[in-house]
Amino acid sequence: MSVKTYLNFIGGKWLASKTGTTFSSINPANKQVLGRFQVSDAQDIDSAVASAKKAFPNWSSTPAPVRGELLFKFANLLKQEKERLARIVTLEMGKSLTESRGDVQEAIDTALYMAGEGRRLFGHTTPSELPQKFAMTVRRPVGVVGLITPWNFPIAIPAWKIMPALICGNTVVFKPSSDTPLCAVEFVKLLTKAGVPDGVINLVTGSGSEAGTPLIEHPDVRGISFTGSHETGDFILKHAGVKKVGLELGGKNPIIVMDDADLTLAVDGILWGAFGTTGQRCTAASRVIVHEKIKKQLEQRLVAEAQKINREKIGNGLKPTTLMGPLINQAALEKTDRYVFIGKQEGAKLLCGGKPCSGKGSTGFFYEATVFTDVKPTMRIAQEEIFGPVVALIAVKNFDEAVAVANHTAYGLSTAIYTRDMKKAFTAIDQLESGITYINASTIGSECHLPFGGIKGTGNGTREAGIEGINEFSELKTVFIDYSGKLQKAQIDIKYN
Ligand code: NAD
Repeated sequence: MSVKTYLNFIGGKWLASKTGTTFSSINPANKQVLGRFQVSDAQDIDSAVASAKKAFPNWSSTPAPVRGELLFKFANLLKQEKERLARIVTLEMGKSLTESRGDVQEAIDTALYMAGEGRRLFGHTTPSELPQKFAMTVRRPVGVVGLITPWNFPIAIPAWKIMPALICGNTVVFKPSSDTPLCAVEFVKLLTKAGVPDGVINLVTGSGSEAGTPLIEHPDVRGISFTGSHETGDFILKHAGVKKVGLELGGKNPIIVMDDADLTLAVDGILWGAFGTTGQRCTAASRVIVHEKIKKQLEQRLVAEAQKINREKIGNGLKPTTLMGPLINQAALEKTDRYVFIGKQEGAKLLCGGKPCSGKGSTGFFYEATVFTDVKPTMRIAQEEIFGPVVALIAVKNFDEAVAVANHTAYGLSTAIYTRDMKKAFTAIDQLESGITYINASTIGSECHLPFGGIKGTGNGTREAGIEGINEFSELKTVFIDYSGKLQKAQIDIKYN
């Protein structure tokens, strides 16, 4: 079967990179090549930024409700193409088709929400301290923005960035992960079909170092929005210079299970949080902090379910029986396996899983659902992001210790607690150090109208989605209109008693 070569999208044209070389995107479930994509470099980024810069005056002065109309059209196209896109997500990224549909649905929801923002984009008005003077804020776009995305939500995460960027009037250079460039191409094709003008959206594929770094360093790029690992985020902050930078990084998310919890609910939540998306979510539940009184019971129930997954539910994401698809690539498989080795060396007890597997005869990067217990909070498997289907059980004596262990991490994205005690639930909301806290629900499951992001090592204080997404992609301008007809001096002319 011949393999198609895909191009960059710059200034409204599909163009080959000047490097003349390509890389392959492969299906992680069977290693089949899905397409070849441009290996791009600084020259391609220069062209893309120039095209975005050229398109900026027209796009930023297009009325926001008109921009919103395009996003409504885009949302409708996504709806029409949902099944086709979901299959591409599964083919390229590996997650189950059910989850891939959710990935696309998140983009539909985001497009609709942000389209509606075209008729809001609120600033605020406030009284001036001087008479006959009017004070307000209005929103202006940031300018040309560079958007760099990971592979684990190859449709939803680009939507989280591109939709608010466009509604606010920015023009975009989009650099997707090299593991999911086909999803990015499909996304951009639909944007052009919706009528987004030439130069407003530009797509450049290629590696982080050769295409990503020139984008973050480019002097004509005014904003960077990045989702990915802590290490890359750290690099970006150091190299972006004076730009508006939004970072959404990793997590080491805990689920606390207290002795009064509904254990069936908690086990369901742990399974979904730890093994959904094969553990490859920034919000994945990779630590379970369990009250010692119910530790044995929880272990037994969790292991029974994890073994069931390992026996029956690992495989190609296109199969309806699949719960856990493959890891994204060979490096991710090796990383997961390395952490299992480290866990054993550190003295944690492996209860189940712990090795690569065949995925029901498929030849991809499959790994078993893995449960460790007797994990100490300081062990590396309790501290470092594995990004695979590995969960570490840590026993604690009481609620205070549970919160202390939960907070004992460099990250602060998502936390969860299972308890029937309202006081504990509300105290957890106060004390857990994270951008998101769930009560009696797992660590995963964001909604597009609520802010998403974390504290500590998870980010630099920005949030995506909802109104926070608008904040990320707009600058507030303060406006004073003095209609007194005379010079008025703030702080000086005002008379206080
Ligand atoms: P990654 O950091 O390796 O890559 C992310 C993107 O950055 C890719 O497009 C990559 O090409 C680019 N990149 C890499 N090096 C770069 C450089 N020097 N300059 C510019 N760009 C560069 O992350 P990944 O493996 O694709 O994704 C997994 C990570 O993403 C995990 O740590 C996960 O927790 C995190 N993540 C976070 C969130 C969140 O919202 N907090 C959501 C999803 C994933």
